[in-house]
Amino acid sequence: MDGSRGPLHASSRPLYVAGPCSAESEQQVLATARALAGLEVGIFRAGLWKPRTHPGGFEGVGAEGLPWLVRVKEETGLKVCTEVASAAHVEACLRAGLDLVWIGARTTANPFQVQEIADALSGTRLPVLVKNPLSPDVGLWAGALERLSRAGIQQIGLIHRGFSAPSPGPYRNAPGWALAIEMRTRFPQLPFLTDPSHLGGDRRVVRELSQRALDLGFDGLMLECHCCPEKALSDAAQQLSPEELKQLLEHLTVRQGHSEDEAFQRGMEAFRARIDDIDEDLLRLLKERMDVSRSIGAYKKKHNVAIVQAGRWEQLLSGMLEQAAAMGLSEATVRTIMTAIHEESVRVQEPDEER
Ligand code: PEP
Ligand code: MN
Repeated sequence: MDGSRGPLHASSRPLYVAGPCSAESEQQVLATARALAGLEVGIFRAGLWKPRTHPGGFEGVGAEGLPWLVRVKEETGLKVCTEVASAAHVEACLRAGLDLVWIGARTTANPFQVQEIADALSGTRLPVLVKNPLSPDVGLWAGALERLSRAGIQQIGLIHRGFSAPSPGPYRNAPGWALAIEMRTRFPQLPFLTDPSHLGGDRRVVRELSQRALDLGFDGLMLECHCCPEKALSDAAQQLSPEELKQLLEHLTVRQGHSEDEAFQRGMEAFRARIDDIDEDLLRLLKERMDVSRSIGAYKKKHNVAIVQAGRWEQLLSGMLEQAAAMGLSEATVRTIMTAIHEESVRVQEPDEER
């Protein structure tokens, strides 16, 4: 990021990017933008080139919609942005004078396409937001940011929109908050938004996801909003009406990034010291457990018994899950942790274990 006050510049308030999934007509774009102009929305979004899973559906109005976005800017003062997936898209946006572009989830996954976009943006001051790829792959996401950065692009940000998963749980996409937080720690200087619309896939869950993102310290939100959601040509189920968006923004609780208050700082230090102690205990116990596993390995070998005894592991896991439930711990989390510990125990029991 450079020091200039571009549309992504840091502010104490979250950055809200909102607008329809797709630009469908000049009337729809302007009606939505006019309704958003009085809200705390900084940037208007509308997809012109739409990456659709199946051919033959509505694939966006393309460059025809660029003058509509320019009109939004002139009439409402909102900054305007759209999704780009090729050099030709970038050039068209630059000619039209858009304020920002974003790279969609399907494009981030393709290094050739990202490089083409980076080359087309090189030497310009157009800010770009990069959505996570559909697969939960932070390397691919980070690689896209590096390509843009190496092309000399100064204003780069990230958008977390959830990940494809065979069983994503209650939302359209699996949130994978931990992966997003890992990216945040890798790129702490870059603005980081969440897209609760694509994450949730249903307007009824947009509010809870938005609040969660702000609670986790994200810098803002990208939200889909349509003047008439039920008539939307794409992503109808997840778009909010302008009134719903207004209600949402009014009810979100914005947290401070940090507090200078001394008592708060001391309280935090005490909590962190306890966490550090507990983590040390966990490591020590893990080491002890592995030592016992190694002894078991040697003992079984001496008595010519196979390492894995399936019945024993299943019994152990179900006992642990029962205890975990009684303690109010998440069954899925305890299962993941215990499975990892079990795999490591099996590994250290191998006679030629690699260390
Ligand atoms: C969009 O923002 O409309 C879109 C297509 O998003 P994603 O790339 O996250 O699927
Ligand atoms: Mn969409």
